[in-house]
Amino acid sequence: MNFFPYRNQELYVEQVPIKKIAKEVGTPTYIYSHGALTHHFEEYKKALKKIDHLICYSMKCNSNLSILRSFLNLGSGIDIVSQGELFRALKAGADPKKIVFSGVGKTDEEMAYALKKKILMFNVESEQELIALDRVARKMKRKAPVAIRVNPDIDPKTHPYITTGMKKSKFGIQYEDAFRVYGKAASLKGIKIIGIDCHIGSQLTDVSPFVDALRRVLQLIDRLNRMDISIQYLDLGGGLGIRYQKESPPSPQKYINTLLKELKGRNLTLVFEPGRSLMGNAGILVTQLLYTKNRDNKSFQIVDAAMNDLIRPAFYNSYHEILPVHKKPRAKQTVDVVGPICETGDFLATSRSLPRMEPGELLAVMSAGAYGFTMASHYNTRPKACEVLVKGKHFYVIRERETLADLLRGESIPKALKA
Ligand SMILES: *Cc1c(COP(=O)(O)O)cnc(C)c1O
Repeated sequence: MNFFPYRNQELYVEQVPIKKIAKEVGTPTYIYSHGALTHHFEEYKKALKKIDHLICYSMKCNSNLSILRSFLNLGSGIDIVSQGELFRALKAGADPKKIVFSGVGKTDEEMAYALKKKILMFNVESEQELIALDRVARKMKRKAPVAIRVNPDIDPKTHPYITTGMKKSKFGIQYEDAFRVYGKAASLKGIKIIGIDCHIGSQLTDVSPFVDALRRVLQLIDRLNRMDISIQYLDLGGGLGIRYQKESPPSPQKYINTLLKELKGRNLTLVFEPGRSLMGNAGILVTQLLYTKNRDNKSFQIVDAAMNDLIRPAFYNSYHEILPVHKKPRAKQTVDVVGPICETGDFLATSRSLPRMEPGELLAVMSAGAYGFTMASHYNTRPKACEVLVKGKHFYVIRERETLADLLRGESIPKALKA
């Protein structure tokens, strides 16, 4: 299903021409397709139909309130990594009983807030964190429901910056230590063990590392059962990849079916924390061509979106397909698509074959629905882009473009500096 089709040479999001949205709200603008995110979520849901499960949308990839609400309406839980995300999720209407809290550096304050809100589960990432959580919970006369995030030491063969389940990474508890830490957890009065968790990386395009990780975790579950530590929730994290260029990741169906084969005869509630595979291909970034530069050996298209809007190309050297919003027959050229920011790393694409376009034309940066807006910054004092949600024939501004005043919010000049 294509939620970003061309009709009469014009690029649409569902049934709305992008041109129309850009005319109304300007550029740069993120546009999300409600149909696409629904379709992606339903694929997971269908694959998991026959078993006890909870899909917790990993909101760090796109945390707009309307996006959260869309997933909540579909029955989703939420995977959070900070107090701010919990606040946001609750504002969007999330049921705390469907919230899992991941993250390698939870503070006492964050733990207390999450305990007060009675979330489903803390995914604990170190022994020190476990002890801190026990202390905070006891002080509140609570028992913190816990899964321990195990680092299964599996190479997911993805970009090193998004590899999280290898020995050398900061995430989780080493496989060899996990058993002992569970023993410790069982002895703490403020802790209630309910699960086990692993998340090995992001943008995985092959199921085998997931299977390897799962097998290691299942061995641990068996060992724990023999110690009378019972595990109800098996949280397999997120990480399923999407197609940006030529990747061919397994479908959620295939990925889940492969995992289910390993889980036959077990009585576990499965938790998944997908982010990118739900949102990545449900959003685009629309930008306007400002200027072109043609040099002897290099051509540039200078656009009004920059690395502060979409940092993935600069940060991970990621590929995002770029499409002209208005398609017409014309010669192609090899260009770098760059933003206005004063950094050589400020590019959206390099050495890309694109049609020769005129200033004022619109371009769509595809697959930008995940880790796009949420990684945006104000670098170069640029206001953050507007966000729009399309549903069928209608579109809704779900975050206004920031104003110049927004950029200064909270800043002040102390008297001592006043001339
Ligand atoms: C980032 C993250 C996810 C989501 O990863 P995707 O690759 O976007 O699916 C899930 N779980 C944890 C713990 C994460 O840090």
